[in-house]
Amino acid sequence: LKDITRRQFVASALSSAAISPLGLAKGAAASAGPVRVDRVVSNVASEPREDAAAPGTDQFSSWQDQGILNLANSPYAKLHNVPVRAVTIENGFWAARREVNVTQSIPTMHDLMESHGRMDNFRRLIGKSSAPEIGNAGCDSHLYKWTEAVAFTLQSGDRPELHKTAEDIIDLVVSVQKPNGYIGTYFVDDRATLSMRPDTQQTGHELYCLGHMLQGAIAYYRATGDRKWLNAGIRMVNDFVLPSYGPAPKLPIISGHPEVEMALVELYRITGDKRHLDLAGYILGGDDRIHVPRQVSIYLFSGTPFTERTQVEGHAVRAMYACCGATDYYLETGDATYWKTLNTLWNSMAGTKMYVTGGVGARAQGEAFGAAYDLPNASAYAETCAAIGNMMWNWRMLAATGDAKFTDVLERALYNGVNSGMSLSGTLYCYTNPLAFDPSAGITIRNPWYSTICCPPNFERTLASLPGYFYSTSSDGIYVHLYDNSILDWHLEDGTGLRVTQKTNMPWDGDVEITVTPAQRSEFTFYLRVPGWAGDKIRVAVNGKPVTGAMAGTYFPIHRHWSPNDVIQSRLGMTPQPLSANPHVAEDTGRVAVQRGPLVYCLEQLDQPNGVDLTDGSLAVSMKPGAEFTSEFKADFLGGIVVLHRDGTVAEVRSPQGSLNSKGGRDALYGPYEDQAELRYSRSVRLTYIPFYAWANREPSAMEVWTPVSKV
Ligand SMILES: [Zn+2]
Repeated sequence: LKDITRRQFVASALSSAAISPLGLAKGAAASAGPVRVDRVVSNVASEPREDAAAPGTDQFSSWQDQGILNLANSPYAKLHNVPVRAVTIENGFWAARREVNVTQSIPTMHDLMESHGRMDNFRRLIGKSSAPEIGNAGCDSHLYKWTEAVAFTLQSGDRPELHKTAEDIIDLVVSVQKPNGYIGTYFVDDRATLSMRPDTQQTGHELYCLGHMLQGAIAYYRATGDRKWLNAGIRMVNDFVLPSYGPAPKLPIISGHPEVEMALVELYRITGDKRHLDLAGYILGGDDRIHVPRQVSIYLFSGTPFTERTQVEGHAVRAMYACCGATDYYLETGDATYWKTLNTLWNSMAGTKMYVTGGVGARAQGEAFGAAYDLPNASAYAETCAAIGNMMWNWRMLAATGDAKFTDVLERALYNGVNSGMSLSGTLYCYTNPLAFDPSAGITIRNPWYSTICCPPNFERTLASLPGYFYSTSSDGIYVHLYDNSILDWHLEDGTGLRVTQKTNMPWDGDVEITVTPAQRSEFTFYLRVPGWAGDKIRVAVNGKPVTGAMAGTYFPIHRHWSPNDVIQSRLGMTPQPLSANPHVAEDTGRVAVQRGPLVYCLEQLDQPNGVDLTDGSLAVSMKPGAEFTSEFKADFLGGIVVLHRDGTVAEVRSPQGSLNSKGGRDALYGPYEDQAELRYSRSVRLTYIPFYAWANREPSAMEVWTPVSKV
């Protein structure tokens, strides 16, 4: 492993040199960005390390080369991340969202966190604010996630103002570190004696906050090379947690809200300190060391050994984050028991408990998964954080396998259940992402602020890190996962410099032109993702010559000697598809959802003809033979989207004589089935669908994803 990583490191340096003369200046731009040379120190010298040769050391992998996850030395990772900075997303769908993220969402969220006292919570501890402590026990994590969003943003190029703001916050966070290494603003003063008590650990979010701090610090390190925050995080782990908490005779740990597990494994991927990996394993092993009732263990997704779980259950974000941590643990250890459980849980989630939007967590009660196939639409909770957790988990499962089924779920969540979480303006957020909505209840679905402000900065860090999800490398080539206008400047694992350019109008049309430019003619495999939605008329050509065999829901391996400027052209099916749910999903019986490409669509009341009421159940989509969708790109509508049109019918109720029934029949709440069926009368209407992510960006309006069908 050591030799391989050394070779990769050298190759990386060589390939940067090789790329530059070609005018591919991305690597140079990145290293001229936020790096301050005087603060870049050795990645290894200052940290304690039990085994300097341990897998996980980043000794030969510099901070610029590390992706969202640094899997360069992970023995059970088939795919390896490319750095966020290696991919530039250009003009197109995601570039527009990312620009809103950086210019609107991230700055305004900073100001809201300031005005809601999130920074004062820290200042108070160093005598720089007299404001009272505010918010709940998880508050610090939201500020950490915001700073992580800035850190990922800086990996795509410097933003001096955001950079300075993040540095100020990091200075503030580090300044409250106690001599014993502890950082936190909630369990101080009167609450100090509660810190890390067994009951506190269940809901106190101390280790959850530590996990988010580590993730933020790691992202900032990978943006800037600056280890100040990272070192503070390592100190909290090494000086506060490790000496006192862990296997007996130390004090026990229950995860409470899983999150620290994945952070500790990522920390191990930097430090090489096996204690960090082992601590994650100890926490995931969570047995009866702190006894909690079974119902509590289900809700917390901890307090039971991870490998004894048989379904996703309980609090959805907790479950998804636990699965992320467990997959990270598997990627380092190869523990077969974990792998078996992870696949069981994935089948439980993707096979029985996930919305068509990729959202998860059906129940508001406990923000929790329901039973299998229990997927109500209007009351769907589907917290934005849970969809993000789903995406992050599938990213890790994909790394372990290279299996496109995980990418299909990742993409489903990203484009739909995650992307709905932020308004087109970038300043309003969904906490829940229901699949049907009735505005008459007076609920505002998008808000600028929530007292638990977990979702908005989570969304912000996800969009900021998005370039890192586009590609992976493997020992035999490169994988493309997501399609949008972009440039990859990176290298193959044998060190050969590689540029890959995508030109496309995804997600609005299915043509993608990919230009592959290795630094010199090279033999490798280009794994072209063919999404599960791409249909059966997929066309792939290399340099104009058709290549056969591409199948939806797979990575299509194209193995050849690649020369600079070789072109892959692919055409993925973009025909709108009516989808039905498994018959066990009672809520969706007799209904269809519509998907076009990666986007799930919905009906919003505002776009339907007068007299059509989405909330009274009288509207149906026509499924008669020959009924078709028409697609129309509207550049000036909802940020520029393809809308879909299709015929529908509205059930109108008449007595057999033709006037509204006054007694019995349809006016009655219930009646004989035969009578009801006979009294139904339908008129045709033209329905208009918009992408689900774009709903609730105008005045309050009814919405539905799953619409009843009529055969007329
Ligand atoms: Zn959330």
